[in-house]
Amino acid sequence: MLKGKLIIFSAPSGSGKTTLVRHILKTFPDYIEFSISATSRPKRGVEENGKDYHYLTPEEFKKKVSNNEFLEWEEVYAGTHYGTLRTEVERIWAKGKAVIFDIDVEGGLNLKNQFKHDSLAVFVMPPSIKILEERLHSRSTDSKESIARRVEKAEKELKTAELFDVFILNENLAEACAKAEELVKEFLQIEG
Ligand code: 5GP
Repeated sequence: MLKGKLIIFSAPSGSGKTTLVRHILKTFPDYIEFSISATSRPKRGVEENGKDYHYLTPEEFKKKVSNNEFLEWEEVYAGTHYGTLRTEVERIWAKGKAVIFDIDVEGGLNLKNQFKHDSLAVFVMPPSIKILEERLHSRSTDSKESIARRVEKAEKELKTAELFDVFILNENLAEACAKAEELVKEFLQIEG
């Protein structure tokens, strides 16, 4: 029974959780679908509205907060809000699939607390803060200030890893992908 199940991938920005989530989606397309978050940040690079995020104005975001439309939401970076819409999760469960989240650490723990027994909360661990910083620089999507903010936040987030069900060390991507597959298969009891 996949309906009602949540797979949460959380990590400091730059740990590679998005790559792992994409890998899981590609491996189990019949079982799992991605929860498209809402955000008040502008679109970046090749991102698409309704695919990567639902892009909202700060006013639209606030309105949805006051209408209680979010399962969880957060000001992940000063002035930038992200949140999980209830309708998004219900849409996926209605198809009989489990939902996978690419979400920041606080949001991940928030969902874990709401859905204790029906969720698998995975913390993706970068090999080190230094490597995380290098990865953020090489993806060249963020300004120097944004990278500095993300690194500072990562240092705090690493301390919460033990609150998750399990962690994956993302040092070697192929190994991390294999570990993620194994954990998801076990959690959803997928055969084969
Ligand atoms: P980015 O701006 O790099 O796409 O995302 C910034 C951070 O916000 C990432 O850690 C991402 O996982 C997180 N994030 C994305 N969607 C949500 C959400 O719905 N809720 C929360 N709490 N964080 C989110």
